[in-house]
Amino acid sequence: MVSNCANSRCGKPLHYLREGRIFIFDASAGASEPSGKRLRRLEHYWLCGACAETMLLVQDAEGMVRVLPKAAAIREPEERAPAATSILAS
Ligand SMILES: [Zn+2]
Repeated sequence: MVSNCANSRCGKPLHYLREGRIFIFDASAGASEPSGKRLRRLEHYWLCGACAETMLLVQDAEGMVRVLPKAAAIREPEERAPAATSILAS
């Protein structure tokens, strides 16, 4: 279960669920068992109130969950948009 803000530069401990925003992703996206059967595993992520105001979480095609600035996400709906990538890499 989540215990800290998903923004790695914040990492605020989760004390109150009513603060911030919970994101739920299917962590099994893009992965499958050797048998070909799809794994299904839901992962919960939390952004604290301050981070949730300016950021959101998205899951890319590989199933990686990334923190994106809201403005970039709205401007660039494509998760692999160059603008968003450069921000994450900085
Ligand atoms: Zn935070």
